[in-house]
Amino acid sequence: MKKNLHFILYVLLGMGISVAIYYVALMIEFNLLATAMIFVVPVGGLLFGGMIGFFAKEGMFKDNTPFNAGRAVFLSVAMIVLFIFLTYLDYLTCYVTDTGDISRLFKGEHVSKVLNGFGFKEYFHLEYFESEVSISTRGNRSHPIEIEGSQGWNFVVYLLQYIGAIVSVILGAKAVNGLPVCDKCGKYLREKEIERYFSATDAVTTLNEFDSTLVGVNKYVPERIKATNYRYTLKAHYCSECQKGHLQMYEHAFDGKNHHFSPVAYKSLTPDTMMKLGLIKNYGMQGYSTMMKI
Ligand SMILES: [Zn+2]
Repeated sequence: MKKNLHFILYVLLGMGISVAIYYVALMIEFNLLATAMIFVVPVGGLLFGGMIGFFAKEGMFKDNTPFNAGRAVFLSVAMIVLFIFLTYLDYLTCYVTDTGDISRLFKGEHVSKVLNGFGFKEYFHLEYFESEVSISTRGNRSHPIEIEGSQGWNFVVYLLQYIGAIVSVILGAKAVNGLPVCDKCGKYLREKEIERYFSATDAVTTLNEFDSTLVGVNKYVPERIKATNYRYTLKAHYCSECQKGHLQMYEHAFDGKNHHFSPVAYKSLTPDTMMKLGLIKNYGMQGYSTMMKI
């Protein structure tokens, strides 16, 4: 459990935010799970799956655990549970006012009282299998065009939501496996941005401030470093426990439309530099390699 603490907490957080978004959308009469853009793109599925996948990735990063089959199953089950709960929330908050409108703010009577014996099971069946797909107001607002969905169409939309959610949650979470790891202990490297968007003329000076050995950066990018239309960002990727890491310089250019980022220089960090950058507090006091020195 402790090993997966952040993973589970972050996934629950993502699920909580999904519930909030779904409810707010319901209030403006927009059911994110019953909506498929151009009939095939499952809006809610991709939105919630992508977001929870991102949260799961952050959790695994904090836990130093990889994405694997077990976590894929966990996430898939979590999405199914979430989606059934969302329809349950839909049911719980379905109140009918005196004028016959649906209120999501608990005005009027609950649908189960208005339609006697209309429980969650019936509601679920209605939502998934019987609801009509209505395409309203093309032109004349007072006479909305309603296209009646064939029986089963809604089921297809819901099925797409589940598939979309499971695929996107897995793709989002899987990204953690592409992150750089410490070659000594195998944990994910932490990242710290040292300097952002500094100009080309300052590049070498800036790098030298952090690590004199980085003068060599000039060898990697002889022309570009002098070009004025490029900007540079310097990041440290490091493992504080092993006191290992590297500085990575990124170049970005703006062509008037898009920003382009590319890594241009890479240099190992010395414990000295790591201290200077505040990545470790003290060295010579921890770790096996230090013991050996003493
Ligand atoms: Zn390490």
